[in-house]
Amino acid sequence: MINRILRVSGTATTSQSERAPASRAPVSLERVTHEYGTGGGRFGRGPERTVTALDGVSLSVDPGEIVGLEGPSGSGKSTIIHAVAGLLVPTTGSVRLLETDLTALTDRERTRVRRRHVGIVFQRFHLLPSLSARANVALPLVQAGVPRRRRRERASELLATVGLADRTTHLPSELSGGERQRVAIARALATDPDVLVADEPTGELDTETGRDVLELLTALGEERAVLVASHDADTLAVADRVVTLRDGRVVDDGR
Ligand code: ADP
Ligand code: MG
Repeated sequence: MINRILRVSGTATTSQSERAPASRAPVSLERVTHEYGTGGGRFGRGPERTVTALDGVSLSVDPGEIVGLEGPSGSGKSTIIHAVAGLLVPTTGSVRLLETDLTALTDRERTRVRRRHVGIVFQRFHLLPSLSARANVALPLVQAGVPRRRRRERASELLATVGLADRTTHLPSELSGGERQRVAIARALATDPDVLVADEPTGELDTETGRDVLELLTALGEERAVLVASHDADTLAVADRVVTLRDGRVVDDGR
């Protein structure tokens, strides 16, 4: 219901008409393969080697669905998260976000789609250290062209929603790990994205703090498509469905 408050308060920067039709999967990967080049080792010497991170991955996330991505370290979870967020283009296959194939876009177009439609939460928060909590949350709104006063209001409101009304002017270094991740969640939701992706969002937090952060993430992710990568059982327990990866392949899609 926190989510409802956020949306009904008229703060959304994405209009309903821009949203994906409810019947279609907001996130869909088809036969995605990704190879990282090792660049021939340090200093570019030696033979060029590649690492196959994803090997024919197909998966989708429905509207309002929270999908967990599980698998041992190196199984390809982060690569999937980055592909869905448009932060990397896989070697082959398609990555559809709200019916747009991200792999067919220019870098500039992909960035635009990401900024408008995807919220991203990283393991290590990725806050800008020189900016206050509020300025960090407002950052995506700067990129979205929201006027200054509206940005401040929206950022303050989001910080209040994540329980940090009294921390708006604090720097990240003045906040605990859990508080930093709350700021990161508020930032991820700033543009009211249709899709929320999180890569090991509780990886740096103690169990208790991790649970609080997850509760927040799921409450605020309601009505969105959420993809959460984790190898932590507590984290995966909040998912409606868990997709299991091994060596870059889906071995169980949880359906
Ligand atoms: P996970 O998140 O499940 O730990 P990743 O998606 O990070 O898995 O990694 C999948 C595979 O790709 C691993 O073998 C990893 O070593 C490799 N890999 C990840 N990122 C890079 C990179 N930037 N360059 C080369 N290899 C990478
Ligand atoms: Mg990872």
